[in-house]
Amino acid sequence: MQYTLKKSLGQHFLHDENMCRKIVSQLKHSAGMRLLEIGPGAGALTKYLLEWEGIEYIAIEIDNEKVEYLRKAFPAIKDKIIEKDILKLTIPFDGSFSVIGNFPYNISSPILFKILEWEPQVEEVVGMFQKEVALRIASGPGSKVYGILSVLMQAFFKVEYLFDVHENCFIPPPKVKSGVLRLSNLHDPFSIEDKRKFINLVKTAFNQRRKTLRNALRGILPADALLKSIMDKRAEQLSVADFVSIYKEYLK
Ligand code: SAH
Repeated sequence: MQYTLKKSLGQHFLHDENMCRKIVSQLKHSAGMRLLEIGPGAGALTKYLLEWEGIEYIAIEIDNEKVEYLRKAFPAIKDKIIEKDILKLTIPFDGSFSVIGNFPYNISSPILFKILEWEPQVEEVVGMFQKEVALRIASGPGSKVYGILSVLMQAFFKVEYLFDVHENCFIPPPKVKSGVLRLSNLHDPFSIEDKRKFINLVKTAFNQRRKTLRNALRGILPADALLKSIMDKRAEQLSVADFVSIYKEYLK
């Protein structure tokens, strides 16, 4: 069976079988679990996922050619492949599920926001990202790359940078470096009741990351909050817990 490779859809397919196995083995699995694969492509990871017994599997792939290819190559899951843009997908399962994928790099941030939205039901995520993006999500305060998604993902998940994936593991080799992340749900360790408000706080603080928080947050915090000494700092100096304290004290 032949297929084309579409650059516009980030189609860099894994062809190093050891690497495919290594990535798949990073996800916890057990009979009865639900699993969403994002962007299965030609099934590099899929064939190993389907070796797991008793899992409830759904894949979402935007490219009609790959969907048809997968349905022929894996008849057992032909009804489990949804042809759709992941960003337009509503939550695919009732109850908790895990997510795996070699994500299309051009939409990795919106995919992470989707995962954040579905977070109460997302048990674990193993995903491949552009290496810089993966390192950014895993980074902490004081780092130049620490940003909105680092704080938001770490507020809900344990974030682990697992390993690099060499360009030669893909056909065609991407021009950027790649890395694999694991996110394990911590089940709302900070008891953030209004996620939308928390997200808005973190986004507003980082949108003007060179300003002090006093200036960056002027529009969304009450006057007394702006007098606090923590407001002399910049967003990148605050830990996840610091952001949570500001949210709890003034925005809840
Ligand atoms: N998992 C495969 C393919 C990874 S490439 C492998 O490792 O070999 C990324 C895949 O995501 C491609 O198959 C591409 O068609 C698909 N994709 C790109 N944008 C998408 C979107 N918005 N929604 C769903 N799938 C998408």
